[in-house]
Amino acid sequence: MNIVVLIKQVPDTNEVRIDPVTKTLIRQGVPSIINPEDKNAIEMALTLKQKYGCKVNVVTMGPPQADVALREAMAMGADECYLMTDRAFAGADTYATAKALSTAIKKVFPDCDLVLCGRQAIDGDTAQVGPQTAEQLGIPQVTYVKEVEVTGNKLTVSRAIENGHEIIELSTPALLTIVKEANKPRYPSMSGIFDAYQAEIKTITNDDLKLDNGELGLKGSPTKVVSTETPDTQRSGEVFTGNPKDCCGQLAQRLKQRHLI
Ligand SMILES: Cc1cc2nc3c(=O)[nH]c(=O)nc-3n(C[C@H](O)[C@H](O)[C@H](O)COP(=O)(O)OP(=O)(O)OC[C@H]3O[C@@H](n4cnc5c(N)ncnc54)[C@H](O)[C@@H]3O)c2cc1C
Repeated sequence: MNIVVLIKQVPDTNEVRIDPVTKTLIRQGVPSIINPEDKNAIEMALTLKQKYGCKVNVVTMGPPQADVALREAMAMGADECYLMTDRAFAGADTYATAKALSTAIKKVFPDCDLVLCGRQAIDGDTAQVGPQTAEQLGIPQVTYVKEVEVTGNKLTVSRAIENGHEIIELSTPALLTIVKEANKPRYPSMSGIFDAYQAEIKTITNDDLKLDNGELGLKGSPTKVVSTETPDTQRSGEVFTGNPKDCCGQLAQRLKQRHLI
């Protein structure tokens, strides 16, 4: 089985700051990480590789420095890593991102059986790229997946829902988005880290995809961001001072006055 895992390099959100003038994320000097649920998707692929002998390809679309994320995936145990980087891809919304990713899957991995994504990226936060990629590939998809079993070309997956789970069967090729409850991503081994820093990261540009420039990046993005606002803090709140017991008493009194308890 040939697996493609789509990963995104994201800013470590605890450190994110917004430019007060342009209202965009300040990325300079902000540490980047693999989107956490994408690590769960990598772990799922590596578990399937151990169980069924799959090949694990990892792909990211991003700037040249996103190769660090791919090297980490390689150190975890991925077989091959691909960086999709081209000025034509810049400024893509989720639709144009999915267009580029799905075209790369069709052209570079024509025999792909399974595409794995994280459920959601912690910066863009839309959870749209996985479903849109499946739609553009014309393959079945299941979101919020916790467990995967493979029998021939049939997948049996457990999908997390509120208060339980659903068992769904589908055929390959298919796309699954993986939730953080699925597993605990492994740490790269020391030798894996050394090997990953020597390993070849293959590059995919629009010369490989041959998409019209109007279908990519900002030009190919139907979403138009009119403005971005940081909400004002309207209420100053009330701070109780004193020892913890007195503070709790004051808080309880305030809640009672408002008929909240
Ligand atoms: C008009 C517009 C312009 C934008 N310009 C830029 C820009 O210049 N630079 C920029 O970084 N962002 C830009 N964005 C944000 C960009 O659209 C999103 O970062 C991107 O489409 C992913 O969406 P998301 O973060 O909501 O991911 P989600 O949909 O939440 O991600 C779900 C999963 O999809 C996969 N995935 C998501 N993105 C990628 C990727 N790039 N490569 C591989 N797999 C992926 C991962 O598995 C991830 O877990 C722009 C958005 C808009 C609306």
